[in-house]
Amino acid sequence: MIDEYYSATYSDARARFLSACLDAGVKVTSYPNPEKGPQGEALFMDVARIGPETARGVVVVTSATHGAEGFAGSGIQVGLLRDAAAPRPGGDTALLLVHAVNPYGFAWIRRVNEDNVDLNRNFVDHENGLYPENDLFEELAAHTIPRNWDEASLAACADAIARAEDVHGEVAVRKAIGKGQYRHPDNVHYGGDKATWSNRILTEVCGTFLKAAERAVLIDVHTGLGPYGYGELMTPSKPGEAVYDLLFDWYGEQVHSTGAEGSAYSGSKGSILNGFRPPLQGLDWASVGLEYGTRERAKVRLAVRADTWLHAHGALDSDLGRQIKRDLKDSFYPEERAWMEKVWERGKDVVGIALKRIEG
Ligand SMILES: [Zn+2]
Repeated sequence: MIDEYYSATYSDARARFLSACLDAGVKVTSYPNPEKGPQGEALFMDVARIGPETARGVVVVTSATHGAEGFAGSGIQVGLLRDAAAPRPGGDTALLLVHAVNPYGFAWIRRVNEDNVDLNRNFVDHENGLYPENDLFEELAAHTIPRNWDEASLAACADAIARAEDVHGEVAVRKAIGKGQYRHPDNVHYGGDKATWSNRILTEVCGTFLKAAERAVLIDVHTGLGPYGYGELMTPSKPGEAVYDLLFDWYGEQVHSTGAEGSAYSGSKGSILNGFRPPLQGLDWASVGLEYGTRERAKVRLAVRADTWLHAHGALDSDLGRQIKRDLKDSFYPEERAWMEKVWERGKDVVGIALKRIEG
């Protein structure tokens, strides 16, 4: 059963999603991305609504905002369409499934999109050039992505980063690397200099499909942080703020505020959770990240740096290139049955509670 929800490639994931929609009698609207996948395959953001067009309460579930993290979210979306135990929208509610927000990254096994942009750093005010500051990153940029990816270069990078940690502190350095930067297009966690395709299309999708909604909540599925197989609910909103308080009312202590003092997570001003809201006046909107742990943090971080280096300076068609891709995929998608089961069980529960509570 579970095996039928998860896929080994983007194309496979898309085929499973489309066939699950077909079997469920759910219409799909597809938005073509201008790029192609590594096999020349076409790329799409696919959107399906379960429930009436006129529903006033809508739960939106998005997958692959960080491309390669899409295997988990896609699996949950297929499960929501196929599983006999899946929660269903009732009464005046609907479930909107957005499959592959960043299909390019999903297909190429990258966190980033076709512009090397970390989509979760891209939801900022590009028009007015209001980019979050990250001066410390200027000191670190040469050491996160060296020119060569070999033992000697990596050791030199590790030394330089350790020296920066002595001066600024370990947490400050980690956050500077992770929170997003807007000056180094070939480096890690680059936020871009304009709204990317995924950003624009998601805005269009929500503007179209949530027109009749009065209340909507977005559940954006990610992987790569936290305990293995556990899905943590994350919001930049703090206790006392409307979104946090709503989520706390629904999920209790399971909600983690990345904006609260002492949070170990870097958070980001340009994340979908912080910077995105549908262009609809009067819509009551909340969003939450559902973040599943995979491998050790150090391994995941190194895999992201290696992949960034590979696409900037390396050769995909090489032993090193293939090894980096295997590591990147394993860092965000442990293809292990126990992990897949935990992801589905938790995903189903989180969506189920949202569907029940969005009714008001
Ligand atoms: Zn992510």
